[in-house]
Amino acid sequence: MENGSVVIRKRGADRIQRGHLWVYRTDIANVDAAPGSIVSVRNERGVVLGKAFYSSKSQIALRFLARGNVPIDESFFRLRFELADGLRERLGVDPFLSRRIYSEGDFLPGLIIDRYQDRLVVQSLIQGTDKIQPFMTELLRQRYPSILFRNDSRVRELEGLELKQEVVGEPIPETLIVDEDGKKIALSLTAGQKTGSYLDQRDNHQAARRYAHGHALDAFTYAGGFALQISEVCDRVEAVDISAGAVEMVRANAKRNGLTNIEAIEANAFDYLRDQHRQGARYDTIILDPPAFAKNKESLEGALRGYKEINNRAMRLLRSGGILITCSCSHHVTEGLFAEMLADAAKDAGCWARVLERRFQSRDHPILLTVPETLYLKCFILEIRY
Ligand code: SAH
Repeated sequence: MENGSVVIRKRGADRIQRGHLWVYRTDIANVDAAPGSIVSVRNERGVVLGKAFYSSKSQIALRFLARGNVPIDESFFRLRFELADGLRERLGVDPFLSRRIYSEGDFLPGLIIDRYQDRLVVQSLIQGTDKIQPFMTELLRQRYPSILFRNDSRVRELEGLELKQEVVGEPIPETLIVDEDGKKIALSLTAGQKTGSYLDQRDNHQAARRYAHGHALDAFTYAGGFALQISEVCDRVEAVDISAGAVEMVRANAKRNGLTNIEAIEANAFDYLRDQHRQGARYDTIILDPPAFAKNKESLEGALRGYKEINNRAMRLLRSGGILITCSCSHHVTEGLFAEMLADAAKDAGCWARVLERRFQSRDHPILLTVPETLYLKCFILEIRY
């Protein structure tokens, strides 16, 4: 499967030695490889540092698969898949609804595989994974009756790849009902957010259930991920989303589970928080899980202002002793920046914020310490005190 070689400069080599998996185009000295091929990567003295996917388009020219001179063949990929399954088994992850491969986090850059019951949703994000798609399809088809390739993510454009969806095997139903920790949730694998749902928040949904109580607000609810899980431990839950489609989903999901204390509301969360405050409403639990406000470094400052605004408003709406479960899925907002922003918001609200838990994405999205890009979701569970 290997063909080609790339020589990298010292800065790129140092980066790999420190445990990152990427080499930028600016650190490439010489290329003898076709787009998307698996290459041997050498330093300028000719020593093989490892094997990597080569991209002819992206600024991230190399994504490492392995260190050292190990052969990359079908059994290499088979083993990577087995290791990923093995980790999830050890972690006690639900095999029927989970991320099976989390790209760099599973040492398989550019590849995402989610399992929804007996169906797989695959995202190939780079030239390298597109090239091995036929082999992967064969491998996966031995175990799963149908595979949806959701190769319609915009990040593929950075690699010069077309956006498309393909189904291999049995057709994918329009709506699938899955069981997330005892709650039935309807989702669309072909049209839903991400690969169909926010698997990355599943562990946090459960954590929220441990603290939520009283009158709760789930301000960016989507299909009701948090709202459905906390409904039984709360008196009432307001589930807000700006999208009419999402509001329809949470309403239907609440009904499907016989949960009568969830009120689905179509509104802009920024306005809703402000209006509720004006009307003198008070809450015991508020959950903030907005979309990524910072899509890149340039938008970081504006994003932090946005995060601060909703967190400050939520803090002011909480009773003393209330719980704020607050998330950011912007990679550029580091855990440190997020904590600082929260401290600023608490200062302006005139409250203390006690950290009950500092959490990340679900454990089927493993984080590599030396690849900070693998950590994108932060979730703080705070107790607000006045
Ligand atoms: N909490 C959900 C995932 C939320 S995704 C879960 O755990 O499954 C973010 C959601 O925020 C999307 O559904 C999007 O429609 C919604 N959204 C984006 N901007 C919004 C705004 N200004 N007000 C309310 N909802 C918003």
